[in-house]
Amino acid sequence: MELFVYRILSPLMLHFKDFYERALLIDCGNGIVQATLTTLGITQIDMILFTHHHRDSASGVTMLATAETQLHVPAMERPWFDAVETFWNDPKTRWHLYNVHPHNVMLATSISVHAGVGEGDHWQWGAAEIWVFDTPGHTDGSVAYLIAVDGQRFVFCGDTIYAPGQLWELYSLQKQDQTSTDYHGFLGDRHRLLQSLDKLVALAPDAFIPTHGQIMHEPATAVAALRQQLEHCYDRYVAISALRHYFPWMFTAFANRPGHMPIGPGKPVPDFLRHIGTTWLIIADNQEAFVMDCGSPAILRAIQQLQTDGEFSAVTACWVTHYHDDHVDAMPDFQVAFPCPTYADAIVAAVIEDPRAFRLPCISPAVVRIDQRTADRESWQWNEFRLTAYTFPGQTYYHGGLLVEGHNLRLFFAGDSFTMAGIDDYCMGNRNLLGAGVGYDHCLALMAELQPTHIFNCHVESAFAFTGDEIAFMRTNLAEREKLYTDLVPWDHANYGLDEHWVRCYPYEQDVVAGQTVHLRVEFTNHSTLTKIASCRPILPQAWGRDVPEQEITIPPKQDGRIDFAISMPDVVNKLCGQSHRVVIPIEVTYDGNVLGQFREGIFVLTA
Ligand SMILES: [Zn+2]
Ligand SMILES: [Zn+2]
Repeated sequence: MELFVYRILSPLMLHFKDFYERALLIDCGNGIVQATLTTLGITQIDMILFTHHHRDSASGVTMLATAETQLHVPAMERPWFDAVETFWNDPKTRWHLYNVHPHNVMLATSISVHAGVGEGDHWQWGAAEIWVFDTPGHTDGSVAYLIAVDGQRFVFCGDTIYAPGQLWELYSLQKQDQTSTDYHGFLGDRHRLLQSLDKLVALAPDAFIPTHGQIMHEPATAVAALRQQLEHCYDRYVAISALRHYFPWMFTAFANRPGHMPIGPGKPVPDFLRHIGTTWLIIADNQEAFVMDCGSPAILRAIQQLQTDGEFSAVTACWVTHYHDDHVDAMPDFQVAFPCPTYADAIVAAVIEDPRAFRLPCISPAVVRIDQRTADRESWQWNEFRLTAYTFPGQTYYHGGLLVEGHNLRLFFAGDSFTMAGIDDYCMGNRNLLGAGVGYDHCLALMAELQPTHIFNCHVESAFAFTGDEIAFMRTNLAEREKLYTDLVPWDHANYGLDEHWVRCYPYEQDVVAGQTVHLRVEFTNHSTLTKIASCRPILPQAWGRDVPEQEITIPPKQDGRIDFAISMPDVVNKLCGQSHRVVIPIEVTYDGNVLGQFREGIFVLTA
C-alpha cells in the first residue's frame, strides 16, 4: 500500500492508492484544498486532525466536513472548537488583557467535535498508524501527530516550527515567564516550544511536516538551528530590556554578559514634582497642578488628598501618556473631579476616546474625553513651563511623550517607555516596531536630539537620563535585532512576526442594526521595503445569505494601506441573531500572493 502526502498551502492531506476516494486531513486552512480533493477524485474526508485552535488553519472545516467526517482536536483546546462562543462573549477575554492565552485567532462559531485527543492516544486509519503527542509552545494545547505507514514515519508538527531555524510568527510565544501574566513574557514560551520539538525529534521521523512552512527531512538539524536563533534573539532582547530594572530575578542567568547595557543610576526628582502610583504631577510657582494620567480610584483619591493638604490650588491641565488601563481607568472620574482640559497625542486619543475600536494589551473600556489632540512637536505654554508634545511609539505604538522646559531643566515624561535599564518592549501586542526611524529607534533618536536632563517613567520613583553612548548602544542593538528577527521568520521583515496587528480591523468592535449599511475598514502595515499587494474580504455568517466581494490594494513600502467595506445588513434582526448578539466577522486575507486564511477579525454587536 502506498501513501500519498499532499501539501496544499496549510492543509495537509493523506490518502491511499487502495481507496482513492477517501482522505484524512491534518488541519484544513480556509478550505481551498477542496479544489484539489475534487481533482484527485476524493469524495470523502474520513477525518480532520487539528494540531491547534488557530482559525487560519481551521476555518475551512465548515466547508469541508460532512456528517461522516470525524473531527479530532487537541483535548485541551476542545472548548475553542465546540464552545467558542464562551470565549467571544466573555468580557475577561476582551478588556484588561494581560494574558493572551488562548489566542483570539479562533473559530468564529462552534463546530461539532468527534474527539479531544492528547498524549498517548493511538489509532489506525487504513494502513496508517497514528499517535498523538502534546506539544505546547505555539499554543498551550497544541498537539502533533506521528503517522507511520509503509515503513515511513511523518510528524505533523503544527506551527511548532516553520523551517530550519524559523517560526511562522513570534507573537504566539508571548507567555508568562516567572511573572504573573503573559504581559511581560516576551518569547516566554520558547523553552516549552523547544522541549516539544525535542520530543518530536526523539521519535526519529523521516520528516517534520508543519502546518505553515516547509517539509523538513532533517528535523534534528532544523530544531538545532531554531534553538540557536531563538537564544540569540532573546539574548539581544535582554541586553537593553527595561524589565531588568523591574524584575531582575528573571535575568540572573544573563548577569554581566558581554554586550548587555549596564543599568544606569537614578537621579533625584525636582521638588516641584509629585509621584502617586502611575501619575506624575507638576506644581507651578502659582500652585496650579498639571496631572499626567489617572489609573485608579486610589490614585484619584490621593490627588484629591494632596489638594486638601494644600500642595496645590487647582488642577488646570491633564496629559494622558498612553492608553493602558493602569493609566486611564480612573480618567473619567478624574475629569468629573477636576474639570480641566485634557491633552493627548492624536494616536493615543484615537484609542482612549473609542476603546471598543481596538483590541490591544491592557486595554481599558474607560472612555476618556480629549479636549486637545496634540500633533507631533506641538508646543504650548502652561504657567512658567514650555510644553512640547511628541508622538512617541515606545512602550506601545499608541503612546505620547511630553517635554517640559522650565526652572532651567529639560524634563521628558516618557510614559512607560524607558527605565534606567533600557526599553519597555516586553509585550509584542504593544506593537514595538523594529526599523530605522520607527518604534524605539524613533524614540531614541528623539532622546539624542532633545537631550533631556531628566527622563521620567510613570512606574519609577526616581528620574534618570541616558548618555549619548547609551542611546547609540541601544540603537545599534535594535538595528542588529531587525536583521536577526527577520532571519527567524519566513517574512521579508521581522515586524510581520512581531506585530500581530499588522493586519487589523477598524473599528475592531461596533454596534450594528438590521437594515443598516455597516462600514468596516481593514488596515495593513506593509513592513517590507517592497511594494505589496493585499486583498481581503469579510466572511459573514452563512445565515445572512450574502457574500462580500474581495477587494485589493497596492501598498507602498513602509506604508499603511486600507480597504473600506460597506456591508448592508439583512433587514430582519432575528435572522441576524444566532445564539449570540456578538458576531465575529473573520477577515480572509491574501498578502503578497500568500493565502493567509481567516487571519484577523472584527466584531459586530447586534442591537435592536
Ligand atoms: Zn497557528
Ligand atoms: Zn503602559
